[in-house]
Amino acid sequence: MRRITFLVYTVLWILLISLNLYQQVTDTKQYAQKIATRQAEMFFDHIVSVRKWNASHGGVYVPITEKTQPNPYLDVPNRDVETTNGKRLTLINPAYMTRQLAEMNEGSSGIAFHLTGFNPLRPENRPDLWESEALLAFQKGQKSVSDMGTINGRSYYRYMAPLTVDESCLNCHQGYKVGEVRGGISVSIPSANMDAFVNERLEHLIITHAIVTLIGSIVLLLSYLAQARLSQRLDKAKSRLQLAYLDSLTLLPNRRYYDAFVKREWKRALRHQYPISMIMIDIDFFKLYNDNLGHIEGDHCLRQVARTLKRFFRRPGDLIARYGGEEFCVVAACDAEQIMVLAEILRKAVESMRLPHPASKVSEFVTISLGVATIVPGDDQAFERLLHCADQALYDAKASGRNRVGQYRG
Ligand code: GH3
Ligand code: MG
Ligand code: MG
Repeated sequence: MRRITFLVYTVLWILLISLNLYQQVTDTKQYAQKIATRQAEMFFDHIVSVRKWNASHGGVYVPITEKTQPNPYLDVPNRDVETTNGKRLTLINPAYMTRQLAEMNEGSSGIAFHLTGFNPLRPENRPDLWESEALLAFQKGQKSVSDMGTINGRSYYRYMAPLTVDESCLNCHQGYKVGEVRGGISVSIPSANMDAFVNERLEHLIITHAIVTLIGSIVLLLSYLAQARLSQRLDKAKSRLQLAYLDSLTLLPNRRYYDAFVKREWKRALRHQYPISMIMIDIDFFKLYNDNLGHIEGDHCLRQVARTLKRFFRRPGDLIARYGGEEFCVVAACDAEQIMVLAEILRKAVESMRLPHPASKVSEFVTISLGVATIVPGDDQAFERLLHCADQALYDAKASGRNRVGQYRG
């Protein structure tokens, strides 16, 4: 894994975890709202049941206390009665009872509810703006409304559902029709209750996601380091291998590589019965070159000749190598005609370099002699046969004047 790949993977990993965290936080918030809605519905249902119970008895009598004073808005006969033993009781209708329950509840859980309608007798029961809109929605048939809102500067999750007239209401309200919307009860749950739940879960989510991010990043880092070490060792092995098969002066493949290559190509040519060709190349009068210009110049000349020859070998089946000393050799999967053309090209290429060779007896410049041989391998032959023939051809080229191509004719 390259460093950039590692960085990309790490960024992707962090992005993935962040995305998941965002999704879970959104889900948690939605879940908290669902819980709040359910809680509000339960509150509402509970209040409605208690109200029904009260209405079914036409109200209930309770002792008059400092807190429970007679309801001034309840204009019915026998609203206040006295028992035979002198205890004073007052009639509590559903509306009064709802108010008392609301006051009691707000103190204990922070959850507030409010009984309201379009034209309440009691001014405190008048709807606020949000409740008025909800009441209008109920008249149009909506079953409930819920939203976030503010009451006296505090944030609440608000829920409201309509109160409809049923049989028990008719005990006291003769003018009503069953099923008619007469008002509603709004339930307000402090958003702090939900925030506490969300924050607790958020804390948990952040910790677990941070741990997962860290573990993932550590795993990525470890695998990156392991791979980096592995590729370092691989590079070392590769360069050792290259050293074993590369000639350090000319950077051409060396004799060892050449031998292995020729054996392989020889076998292939034998299998398919196609010709295999070889060129032995030798720099002319190189001893004199060294003697005249020095070994350092000689090395430089070898490198330049090698670079020039190398340019002509790009095909995978062809190879040029340093055979040893000032000799190079070529093997190519081609016939006698093609190899002669190639040999002549190589000869001309070196001559065209115009490297001065003051001591040469055949030219003012560095030249090469080449020996070419082509064989279609037979079962009774070894690849050394090809070497021998090319060497023979080189000998002929040298003998017949140098700076030329000799061809083996068996
Ligand atoms: P011919 O034309 O018959 O090939 O003559 P020649 O002088 O080239 O042949 P010879 O075999 O007599 O000499 C080869 C010389 O190549 C001898 C040696 O000093 C030189 N030589 C071999 N390897 C190297 C090398 O790595 N660096 C340098 N500078 N010279 C080398
Ligand atoms: Mg030689
Ligand atoms: Mg030579």
